[in-house]
Amino acid sequence: MSSANFTILRQCENCSKMFEAQKRTTRFCTHKCSSQNYKLRKRLDTKKQVEKESIRRIAPKVRTINIELIKHKEYLRVVEVATLFGCSKNTIYRMIQSGELNAVNLLKHLTRIKRTDIEKLFEQPIPVKPDILTIENCYTMAELCQKYNVATNTIYGYVGKHNIERIKKNGITYYSKYCIDNLFKSI
Ligand SMILES: [Zn+2]
Repeated sequence: MSSANFTILRQCENCSKMFEAQKRTTRFCTHKCSSQNYKLRKRLDTKKQVEKESIRRIAPKVRTINIELIKHKEYLRVVEVATLFGCSKNTIYRMIQSGELNAVNLLKHLTRIKRTDIEKLFEQPIPVKPDILTIENCYTMAELCQKYNVATNTIYGYVGKHNIERIKKNGITYYSKYCIDNLFKSI
């Protein structure tokens, strides 16, 4: 049976008209429909490409951070520390700048923080300003000079200049540990 001896009824994929096809693979009723459809597909393809491209361009870069992995790393990136703390990267950078958190700059934009330095943050108790000054939460001048290795006159200078809170008992002046420690931390 030659192909000319029978016809197959098909539906044109372009105009939806039924037509008699000579071959099973014929998809269009006419050459016109075929070329129309080809052009349409090409247009759609281009559109798809454009859409794909624009999606790629606007998609934000998302870095997934594996928390489990962070837990076992000795040296962490800023973004990883921020993830652990649930804060922004800027907060971490500020902590580094202020000296609260140790970090090493291996290269520009390649900051690494040692896990043990993060743990140290939690070992230092946050000083709380006492409501009332007592001998217990104050230094004597001798204690102060010894602790910070400074001369009495230097302390007198600081006390006046930085408004260090103090109390006097039995003729002895006691200086607020909170104020003094903060002062020496900042200078
Ligand atoms: Zn057609």
